[in-house]
Amino acid sequence: MSTIDSVLKENRLFPPSEDFRVKANVSGMEGYNALCEQANNDYEGFWADLGRELVSWKQPFTKVLNSTEAPFYKWFEDGTLNVSYNCLDRHLAGSGDKPAIIFEADDGTSTPVTYRELHQRVCQFANGLRSLGVKKGDRVVVYMPMGVEAVVAMQACARIGAIHSVVFGGFSAKSLQERIGDARASLVITANEGLRGGKSVPLQAVVDDALALGGCESIQHIVVFQRTQTAPAQWDARNVWWHELTAQQPTECEPEWMNAEDPLFILYTSGSTGKPKGIQHSSGGYLLGTLVTMKWVFDYKPDDVFWCTADVGWITGHSYVCYGPLAIGATQVVFEGIPTYPDANRFWSMIARHKVTTFYTAPTAIRSLIKLGADLPGQHDLSSLRLLGTVGEPINPEAWIWYHEVVGGGRCPIVDTWWQTETGAHMIAPLPGAVATKPGSCTLPLPGILADIVDESGAPVEPGKGGALVIKKPWPSMVRTIWGDPDRFKKTYFPEEFNGQLYLAGDSAHTDENGYIWIMGRIDDVLNVSGHRLGTMEIESALVANPLVAEAAVVGRPHEIKGEAVVAFVVLKQNRPEGEDAKRIARELREWVAHEIGKIAQPDEIRFGENLPKTRSGKIMRRLLRVIAKGEEITQDVSTLENPAILEQLRVSAL
Ligand code: ATP
Ligand code: MG
Repeated sequence: MSTIDSVLKENRLFPPSEDFRVKANVSGMEGYNALCEQANNDYEGFWADLGRELVSWKQPFTKVLNSTEAPFYKWFEDGTLNVSYNCLDRHLAGSGDKPAIIFEADDGTSTPVTYRELHQRVCQFANGLRSLGVKKGDRVVVYMPMGVEAVVAMQACARIGAIHSVVFGGFSAKSLQERIGDARASLVITANEGLRGGKSVPLQAVVDDALALGGCESIQHIVVFQRTQTAPAQWDARNVWWHELTAQQPTECEPEWMNAEDPLFILYTSGSTGKPKGIQHSSGGYLLGTLVTMKWVFDYKPDDVFWCTADVGWITGHSYVCYGPLAIGATQVVFEGIPTYPDANRFWSMIARHKVTTFYTAPTAIRSLIKLGADLPGQHDLSSLRLLGTVGEPINPEAWIWYHEVVGGGRCPIVDTWWQTETGAHMIAPLPGAVATKPGSCTLPLPGILADIVDESGAPVEPGKGGALVIKKPWPSMVRTIWGDPDRFKKTYFPEEFNGQLYLAGDSAHTDENGYIWIMGRIDDVLNVSGHRLGTMEIESALVANPLVAEAAVVGRPHEIKGEAVVAFVVLKQNRPEGEDAKRIARELREWVAHEIGKIAQPDEIRFGENLPKTRSGKIMRRLLRVIAKGEEITQDVSTLENPAILEQLRVSAL
C-alpha cells in the first residue's frame, strides 16, 4: 500500500504559560489525559455526563448511543430539548442584561444587544414565522447579510423546530436555486441588500432571480429585512417585510420541544471539491459539540469577549457565532464587514475597541493581512487578547509564527482547530492550557474523539507516514445524513473499503514522534511524484516560508517519467513579476524548496498571480488549478469562486 511521504520538519514547541495553564478549564496534560482516560474507559458514560452537565433538557435522556442502524447513529434519542431555549432563555435569570452580541456594522457603528433583547427579538420573529404557517420540520432558507438578524433568523427557526439552511449571501442565484430546490424549502429569509466594504450587495434581487429560474415552487413566503433605504425593484405578493411581520408579535414564544435527533439544520458544504452536499445536523448532539468545545478549546470564561470572524453562511458561523457562544452565555462580537475596509487595520482596531479576548479567524485572512501590512497590529492595543484560533485550512508555520508574535504578543496560545461541516464541532485541536502547540499542527484529538491515520485497507500507518484521516467511533455532533441522499452519505463517509466502520474525513494527515497530527491536504489533492506521494500542504508551507511569498498552492500535472510534475501557483508580497524578473524569482523559489524540504518536492513549474482562485469561504480551489496546470479549458462550475478573473493570469508559466 502506498502511504504519503512527509517532507516538512517543524520542531518549534510552544507550551502554555504557567498563568494560562493554572486558570484553564482543562489544566495541564494531567487534565487532558484524565478526560481521555474517562472517555476510553466508558465512552458512552463520558458523553452522557457531558450531555447532562452542559445541555438543559426538557425531558432528560436515558439512552446515550444507538448504533443499530449504523452508520446512521443516534445520540440521546429519548431526550427532548430546544436549542434556542439553551441559547437564550436559560441565561435570562442570571445574565439577562449581559451583552450577547456587540454588533459592529460595516460603517463602524456598534450596537450591543443583551440576552434579554435578543430573546425578545427571537421570540417575536419566531411568532412571525408561525403566523406564516411555518411549523416543525419545515425547511427555511436563510440568505442574509452577516448581522444580528441573521442570528435571530436562525435562532427563531430553532425555536419553532423549523430546519434552517443558510446560504452564504455571496452565492449566485443558481447556487441559491439549487439549494432551495434540494431542500424543498417553504420560506426564504433575506434582506433587501447587504453592506460589505462600503458597497451594497444585492440579496432580495438574487432571491427573485433564483425563484425565476424555476424549481422553487415549494416557496410560499419571502421575508425581507430592510437593511438599507434602497427600495426593492420588484415586490412579489409572497413577500413580507421583516419589520411588519414582527411589529405586533408578543415577545414571548413557547419553544417547540424537539427530540434530540430532530434535525436542527442543513448546511451545504462549501463546494471546494465538487457538488455541494446537504449536511444534516441533529439538535441535542450538535448542541453538546458546540458547548464542550467552547469550554475546552476556547477555554471559555464568563468575562470573555469572543470574536469568530466567520460568516453564518459557513459551519464555523453556525457553531461559533450562532450556537456555541450563545449556548454557553458568552459576549461576542458580530461583524458585518470585511477585514480590509476601510483599510487593513479593521480587525486590529476592532480587537482593541471591543477588548476582544478570544479571536478566531482563517489562515487565508491571516495571510492576506500579512501581505497588506505585517506591522499594522503593532499600532493597536491588543493586550486584551488571551487566546487565538484558526480554522478552514492548514496554517503555514510562517503565518502561525507571525500570528503568534505580532497579533498575540507571544503570549496567547493558538488553537489550530481541525474540523468540518460534517463534524459539527472541533475534533482535533490543542486544549490551550494543556497541550503545547507546534506551528502548523492541529496537535491532538479532543478527549472522546478517536482519530487515526490509515492506509487504503484501513490499517493504521506508522508515525511519520501519511494516510487517510479517519474517526473510529461516532461522536455526538456528527453529521446524521446527507439531506435526501442516505446512500451518498454512506458511500462518502463510511465507505465499504473500511467495512463501513470508519468515518472517512477526506483529508490526508500524518503523526509525528509526539503523536501530534499534521493535516497534509485533501486526499484528492495528493501528488504522486516518482513514486513518492506528497501532500500539498508541506510544499506550500515551504514556499510561504520564503520571505518573498505571500501565498502558494501546489497541484500535480501528469508527467511521462515522474508520474506527476509539481506545479506551484504563487502570490508574492510584491507585485506580480513578469518576464526575466519572474524567471529569476521562480528559479530562486525552486532552489529554496529543494533546500527546505528536498529535491523531490521541487516545483517543475511556477506560475505567478496577483491572487489564487478561492471559494467564497476563502479556501484555495485546487481542483481548478489542476485543470489550469494541464492547460485544459475549465468546464467546472466556477460560480462559488470569489475571484474568477484571476484564472487567466495563472495560465502563464514563469519557467
Ligand atoms: P467541500 O467538502 O464541499 O469540498 P470543504 O471541505 O471546504 O468543502 P468545510 O467543511 O467548510 O468544507 O471544510 C472542512 C475542511 O477544511 C477539512 O476537511 C479540511 O480539509 C479543511 N480544514 C479545516 N480546518 C482545518 C485545519 N485546522 N487544518 C487543516 N485543514 C483544515
Ligand atoms: Mg469537505
